[in-house]
Amino acid sequence: MSRTHQRLFFALWPGEDTRRALWQVSGTLHQVWNGRRMKPDTLHMTLVFLGDTPVEKVAVLREIAAAMDTRKFEVTLNHASCWRHNKVGFLSPEDSPPELLQLVYGLEDKLEEAGIAFDERPYKPHLTLLRNTRCTTQVAFAPIHWHIEEFVLVSSTTRETGPAYQLIGRWPLK
Ligand code: ATP
Ligand code: MG
Repeated sequence: MSRTHQRLFFALWPGEDTRRALWQVSGTLHQVWNGRRMKPDTLHMTLVFLGDTPVEKVAVLREIAAAMDTRKFEVTLNHASCWRHNKVGFLSPEDSPPELLQLVYGLEDKLEEAGIAFDERPYKPHLTLLRNTRCTTQVAFAPIHWHIEEFVLVSSTTRETGPAYQLIGRWPLK
C-alpha cells in the first residue's frame, strides 16, 4: 500500500434498509446467473472514480464535495443486466434523476478545474451485485427505491479477501 497515494472514488452509500433490499435482489439474481456476490457491506454506486490520487489532494477533494449544492433525490433501481466484457452483473435506474447527473457532472467540473485526474469515460450509473457472471435470462425483481441523502468519498485497498473500502468523508445533500 502506498503512503503517498490513495485509490479514491466518490459514491452513493446505501443505508441499512436499502442494503438489505439489495442483498435480497443479489440472491435472486445469483440463483439464475451465478457468479460471485459482492458482500452486503461493500455495495455502493460509484459517482466519480479518481483512482490513485496523491494524499495531499484530499483536502481539495473535501472542499469540492462540501461546495456541492445538490438536493436530496430518489434513485429507482429497476433494471438488472450484465456487461459482457468484465462479467459484472449490476442494477441500474432506467431513468437517471437530474440531481444524480448534476452531482456527477458538478464534481467532474470542479475536479477538472482543480487539475485532479478522474476516469472521464461517459457516466453509466450502476450498482454492482455480481462478479464473474453472465446474464442468461431476464430475472424479475421488485424495484428498489433508494432515497439519497448524502454522498461519500471512499478509499479502496485490495486485500487477499477482496476489496476493502474505507469511508473517508461524507456530505449531506440539501
Ligand atoms: P477490485 O478492483 O479490487 O476487484 P473493486 O473494483 O470493487 O475491487 P476498485 O477497483 O477500487 O474496487 O473500484 C471501486 C469502485 O469504482 C467500484 O465500484 C468500481 O466499479 C469503480 N471503478 C473502478 N475502476 C473504475 C474506472 N476506471 N472508472 C469508473 N469506475 C471505476
Ligand atoms: Mg476494480
